[in-house]
Amino acid sequence: MPPADLSARGPSTAAVHGGEPRHRAHDSVTTPIVQSATYTFANTAELIDFHEGRVEREEYGRYGNPTVRAAEAKLAALEDPAGAAAALLCASGMNAITSALLAMLPAGGHVVLTDDCYRRTRQFVRTMLARLGVEHSVVPAGDLGALEAAIVPGKTRVLLSESPTNPYLRVADLPALAAIGRRHRVKTIIDATFATPYNQRPLAHGIDLVVHSCTKYLGGHNDLLAGAIVGRPGIIAALREAQGMLGGICDPHSAYLLLRGLKTFALRMERHNANGMVVAGFLEEHPRVARVHYPGLASHPDHAIAAAQMRGFGGVVSFEIAGDLDATAHFIDRLRLPYIAPSLGGVESLVEQPALMSFYELTTEERLAVGIRNNLVRLSCGIEDADDLIADLGQALDG
Ligand code: PLP
Repeated sequence: MPPADLSARGPSTAAVHGGEPRHRAHDSVTTPIVQSATYTFANTAELIDFHEGRVEREEYGRYGNPTVRAAEAKLAALEDPAGAAAALLCASGMNAITSALLAMLPAGGHVVLTDDCYRRTRQFVRTMLARLGVEHSVVPAGDLGALEAAIVPGKTRVLLSESPTNPYLRVADLPALAAIGRRHRVKTIIDATFATPYNQRPLAHGIDLVVHSCTKYLGGHNDLLAGAIVGRPGIIAALREAQGMLGGICDPHSAYLLLRGLKTFALRMERHNANGMVVAGFLEEHPRVARVHYPGLASHPDHAIAAAQMRGFGGVVSFEIAGDLDATAHFIDRLRLPYIAPSLGGVESLVEQPALMSFYELTTEERLAVGIRNNLVRLSCGIEDADDLIADLGQALDG
């Protein structure tokens, strides 16, 4: 029996039932982990039927796996409950981004990206894609005029932006971005890792492809690395073909963990959103906090856009301590609940000082040039009780 029809159902139902077949091997309630590198054919006639498209089945582990397919179908159902989308799981979020760009950009092609894209994405475009003869332009986040002006007729193939971005949580005007893409016949890609399909569904606004680091909210438990690309079935089929060559597949164990994590996805997102909002409000009022960056606050430059196109604003709150690098490090060391670690979106709160983590090797001047201040803190609120998070932040600030 096919998966349940989700077109008129809510995101919690999609998270639990989406994508998975109603009846599974051995009548198990959960989708099993199919730990097989390859798949047997009964005879050569079945092989020929498969090649001729008369039989749909698995062939070889790099081309597909039932556990992985179930996770892909669930992600597609979350991104588009009407069932018009398809998804491709990848080895990591970076693998999803690099595979999509490699597959879509020819030598001599051109990509436009926003200046606060994930630093590894920018590095990939600046180094490896450049070596392959792909050119790029970097435009300020939130400046759609600059974005459109950067399009080179006949050369630009892709517009890539995150929404919300890291660490300042800038939110792109997705309908406007999609319109620019359509006007110039350029594909639009949104890295929606920070939003997830619970909070924002770019395909519904006309964006061509959504990429996610499933390592974050979608997996949700800091125990797997995976990525996904979601879009119309035709383009996803082409990217699946590319994955057959590039080889960056998601393994069935990670796909199972992702499926399991997704069952509670909507519940977790409600708590992440609630905690993010309460924590951002608390920090904004605190005298030892100089500035808070959170799209749910009226003070955020993209608050109006975020309020129009997002269900909630997520669990990541960035803020600046009223103090220098050392005072900020001291504040972080006094925290007792969040772990000091890179990443975000898991049930455990994580905290980082970008100047001492991703941007450690830069001087203060170099950091400022890329917009990273020494007193900046990025907090990923987990699903702990908001009162406990606030009490912990309060004692660390007051200390
Ligand atoms: N996109 C964004 C917005 C991220 O924050 C990250 C973080 O690592 C990635 C992509 C890469 O994902 P992954 O670590 O799963 O490769």
